[in-house]
Amino acid sequence: MNGLRRLRIVCQLGCLLGFFWLFVATEYRGLDELPYPVSLLFRIDPLAALADFFAPGAFAWRLLWPALLVIVATGLLGRFFCGWICPLGTTLDGAGRLLKSPGGRPRPGLRKIKYLLLLGLSAAALFGVQVFGWFDPLSLFLRTLTFSLYPVYNLFANRVFDFFYDHQLPLISDLVNGAYPFWRDHLMAFQQPVFALGLFTALVFLAVLLLEKFERRFWCRNLCPLGALLGLCSRHALVRREPASLCSDCSRCQSACRMAATGSDGHARSECVLCFECTEYCPAERVRFGFHSREGSGQVDLRRREVVTALAVGALVGPTASIAPAAASADSYLLRPPGAVAEDEFLRRCIRCGECLKVCIGRALQPAWLDAGPLGLWTPRLVARFGYCEYNCTLCGQVCPTGALRPLTLEQKHKTVIGLAVLDKDRCLPYARNEECLVCEEHCPTGRKAIVFEQKQVLVRSRIKMLKIPRVVGKLCIGCGICETRCPVEGRSAIRVTNENESRRKRDGLAWKADEKRPSA
Ligand code: SF4
Ligand code: SF4
Repeated sequence: MNGLRRLRIVCQLGCLLGFFWLFVATEYRGLDELPYPVSLLFRIDPLAALADFFAPGAFAWRLLWPALLVIVATGLLGRFFCGWICPLGTTLDGAGRLLKSPGGRPRPGLRKIKYLLLLGLSAAALFGVQVFGWFDPLSLFLRTLTFSLYPVYNLFANRVFDFFYDHQLPLISDLVNGAYPFWRDHLMAFQQPVFALGLFTALVFLAVLLLEKFERRFWCRNLCPLGALLGLCSRHALVRREPASLCSDCSRCQSACRMAATGSDGHARSECVLCFECTEYCPAERVRFGFHSREGSGQVDLRRREVVTALAVGALVGPTASIAPAAASADSYLLRPPGAVAEDEFLRRCIRCGECLKVCIGRALQPAWLDAGPLGLWTPRLVARFGYCEYNCTLCGQVCPTGALRPLTLEQKHKTVIGLAVLDKDRCLPYARNEECLVCEEHCPTGRKAIVFEQKQVLVRSRIKMLKIPRVVGKLCIGCGICETRCPVEGRSAIRVTNENESRRKRDGLAWKADEKRPSA
């Protein structure tokens, strides 16, 4: 194994481990501020930068400048991100080995799908519909870890520790019990995560892995829009292969190439991921990589008709689906995390990475299915019956890599209204059954309680008694949802949070903005 190839493998494994470490660190561990830049990988993601570029408002330079550095480096060196950094690429290399993926010749017909997908997604984004996150490899990878694999891992780890604690096996139990505090504090979730869409997300990822059965790096070669973007950037990269074409007396390096970048018509720089595998497979040691300014061949081969079709489809889907934000806001129970920007901007900034769902202390955030409109798939929504927004937590705004959630100080957070709790008098125990219940008032976290009681005379078994009747004070309620989570009524809660009054809504002027003065709570 030559030095460059060894370095590449070390770099790939290092990046994958770093990615896992940042993933595990995206968790509440007793600190109000996360000590690490856990969303770093998305900040170097050029597709996230492209999504942000098309979103309304100013480009999020503060968050996404590293992605621009990657684009410049790709323009100079080539598509090194895919061969050296991308965690999905590394996983596919591993899956390819296990599944014994065939190498194969270049298939330009399939290869161009990723470019057409990128064009279609860009046209749709230009017309107001941003769904880059559905196809972004980093989002795909992180979503699968968050919604599918981490909950299973966490449950499994808990069961293993419980087993050895219960059975007290000689020696082993002492070892496992000794390791438990470290594992719990650094490598396990604060609370057992449970997410909707876990199975669906896992099946999508599995399908991407199984494509390796047909071709090595099938996803990277043919489907990945991030690969397409980097491929376009690297068309004039200075790092080139010599000889560019296959030698007439040998074509061994073609079958070694994971990207089928070398063909008889030359070396396609937009496909080459600089893995340097071909240097090792050449029996005559002819293959070299170096800096050359000479033009190459085998570049992106798109017909005008195909480009126009991809752009037209994207542009048509955009306006058609742009009724989605309106459809979503028609759902009065659609709650977004605190700090979320206005709904249509939110949908255009969120890259469905799942970072906010992973870090949520109260396990209140769940990935949306079609309940947030057809474009809302995998976006975060707060499901208050399931979990609540912790009053003193600002973590989701700290981890969002795109500015879909603005970072809030604690003071801003306390003034940010997610929604408004509304009592269902047909289910609330004091109203519906004349039974005393104080739960929602007890849990309400605002300084001046947003749920107050009024004394009322009621008739119980022919006797008059005084009963405390709850009432929501609209101007104090921030919609954190703890009352809905804790309500003891079986099934649907007797108090539910609607998105009425949320700070980000400017429509009716009823709402307080996060930086506006609100009555002190
Ligand atoms: S041509 Fe060589 S360096 Fe480029 S992707 Fe193929 S094997 Fe890797
Ligand atoms: S809102 Fe959540 S899912 Fe969307 S980009 Fe931000 S952190 Fe990722």
